[in-house]
Amino acid sequence: MQILLVEDDHALASALKEALHKQGYSANVVGTGEAAIYVIQTDPPDIVILDLGLPDIDGINVLKRVRQKHIDTPVLLLTARSQLDDKIIGLDSGADDYLAKPFEMTELFARLRVLTRRLNTSGTAKITVGDVCLDINANSVALSGEELELSRREYMLLKSLMEHVGRVQTRHTLESRLYSWGEEVASNALEVHIHHLRKKLGTEFIQTIRGVGYKVSQP
Ligand code: CA
Repeated sequence: MQILLVEDDHALASALKEALHKQGYSANVVGTGEAAIYVIQTDPPDIVILDLGLPDIDGINVLKRVRQKHIDTPVLLLTARSQLDDKIIGLDSGADDYLAKPFEMTELFARLRVLTRRLNTSGTAKITVGDVCLDINANSVALSGEELELSRREYMLLKSLMEHVGRVQTRHTLESRLYSWGEEVASNALEVHIHHLRKKLGTEFIQTIRGVGYKVSQP
């Protein structure tokens, strides 16, 4: 998940970038509206976090210009100004959500999860983690561009892990994915499927969190 952070406050930008990395997001930072518009067009991120108060173009106008170009990348506005007006103008201009500064990181992450879920149910449903790309619409997985043969259970497990990149999925959660296919599942079924996935994806891709479960992380 690639995030473009548009924020001219260097201290805040680097703190946010680090926090996003720890959550498994990959984040690039730009400090001006012009740079934001350029990057959104040339190297489209999955989500934009856009500060309203920028040194060159107001965040609202950045947003308007992006939407005029029919680019529908989800945008989360950050506003230092607490006036309701800004929020309404922002949402009218095509923002998907907003957060008033100061905010808690946990609040930001919660909003990002909502936007991510929305992404995953829309037309552009691809999750990329390292060399692995999972296409939710096509139910397919590719490693370095080569499509892999996965069983339905392997696919469901991998999808669950990749949708929650950077976060541990407990054994219980993952097993419930297997059970949801309506068959009896042997006690070691999860390990067996993970073993098969590792053969196909390489041993490093899925990490074991001993006594808890498994996770995948952005490299
Ligand atoms: Ca600012």
